[in-house]
Amino acid sequence: MTRQQISLNPATDEVVATFPVHTEDQVREIVAHARYASIWWKQQGFHGRRRALLNWKRYLAGHNAELVDLLHRENGKPRPDAGLELLLAIEHIDWNARHAGKVLRSRRRNPGLLLANFSARVDHVAFGVVGVIGPWNYPIFTPNGSIATALAAGNTVVFKPSEYTPAVAQWYVNAFADANPEAPTGILSLITGDGETGAALCRSGVDKIAFTGSAATGRKVMSACAEVMVPVVMELGGKDAAIVAADADIAAAADAIAFGAMGNSGQTCVGIERVYVERAVRDQFLDKLRGVLADVRPGTGIGASYGPMTMPSQIPVVRRHVEDAVASGGETVIGDIGDIGERFIAPIVILDPGHESAAIQEETFGPTLTVTTVTSLSEAVDLANDVRFGLGGAVFSRRRAREVVERLDTSQVSVNSVLGFAGMARLPLGGRGESGFGRIHGPEGLLEFTRTRAVATQRFPVPGVHLLSFRRAPWIDRLLPHLIRLLHAR
Ligand code: NDP
Repeated sequence: MTRQQISLNPATDEVVATFPVHTEDQVREIVAHARYASIWWKQQGFHGRRRALLNWKRYLAGHNAELVDLLHRENGKPRPDAGLELLLAIEHIDWNARHAGKVLRSRRRNPGLLLANFSARVDHVAFGVVGVIGPWNYPIFTPNGSIATALAAGNTVVFKPSEYTPAVAQWYVNAFADANPEAPTGILSLITGDGETGAALCRSGVDKIAFTGSAATGRKVMSACAEVMVPVVMELGGKDAAIVAADADIAAAADAIAFGAMGNSGQTCVGIERVYVERAVRDQFLDKLRGVLADVRPGTGIGASYGPMTMPSQIPVVRRHVEDAVASGGETVIGDIGDIGERFIAPIVILDPGHESAAIQEETFGPTLTVTTVTSLSEAVDLANDVRFGLGGAVFSRRRAREVVERLDTSQVSVNSVLGFAGMARLPLGGRGESGFGRIHGPEGLLEFTRTRAVATQRFPVPGVHLLSFRRAPWIDRLLPHLIRLLHAR
């Protein structure tokens, strides 16, 4: 009998939907079908794919209330946040649909002096079938960053969502088929299950895996893919810092940081988890933050700022981080350990915890924030960089933002704001270190889902030269040492 997976509303434990746990054989079958469909999808060219992707985005936009409601029920986030997530995802589909042709078109290259009788060209060729493994925190926006890009680049996609958000994923996948009734099945397919299903996808014959999730699972995915030589793009966790300079607009910084830290219950890979603030403005910053957070509360009804923790097993992690931060010398200046409930966690801010504490060094993924006092921006950058992650970050300053941006060891930075880079479909997103590698979003994302093909075409033979032949004339061999010196010794 097929094993079943139940998805629950994290605020109420009400059953949202039930799904099969696909077996390894079923996953292989779905991937084989996606490979068959990829022939049709490739044949559509950029123009046909653009039409299909725009049909899909119109469908998502037209039915947004349904999907927003499902997102709210299955993930727990407030409806307005679900709406914002969907809007951003739709923007990405739109951008990819409209720009894939331009970014990925074949381009001529100069063949160089030695082979001047050739023409040279680079093509960007779709892989075939891309497997996308996604998390639950932004169950549409995050996987969509890989899915929309991989589809626009000419691949078919098999999507394995988190076991916490399969209903949202099914709705999103079905929407593609409903918006494109003339397309064969298998352009965008869903597989459901748990970690084993994700592992089966790695071994199923896909041509590339785009993984978004934790570094621990990312390692497992990488080793499974290494066995079968399948390339991967890894979008992993973060420990983003915001740096607040003495010359910043402190009220604006507090407002943005409060949202970046607590929004989505802190369950955001590029959420702000740490602040480094110059001593001269530290107290002013804390006062403003206190003012903003006074109105921020978790819940389910209208007016709730964010929802429950989607994954119950994350709650003990948040508790451990707060306890460890306090044990290391930190002081809870907003909220305290008592704010960690069974489903909801109210904002907690800890001042000056030890640099080696878990709250500074590990991803917390909850509505908590550390604030560390620094004596200079240089110290702030050194501390911000001294973690294993390198996803995003933010700097608040009127005049010194550029020098901070240049020294921050992350792949994305927002200046006088938070999260801005994730909302722009034109900008790439990715990590370094424990935050992963490879890029999704923007032109770099489109390139990530293709392999390059270099084409060198001999346009005419050069009489008597035959450089790439056993018929090469002896005088050329004698000339070679002189040629090397002439071309490269000066
Ligand atoms: P996990 O790493 O726990 O899971 C991610 C996905 O991998 C899920 O679909 C999961 O399935 C699946 N999976 C689990 N085990 C395996 C396995 N052995 N082989 C293949 N797939 C497997 O992450 P979460 O879902 O908890 O997501 C939160 C994490 O995602 C955080 O670290 C967050 O920072 C990161 N993230 C990164 C982003 C980025 O762009 N860099 C964006 C958003 C989130 P199942 O759930 O069914 O077990």
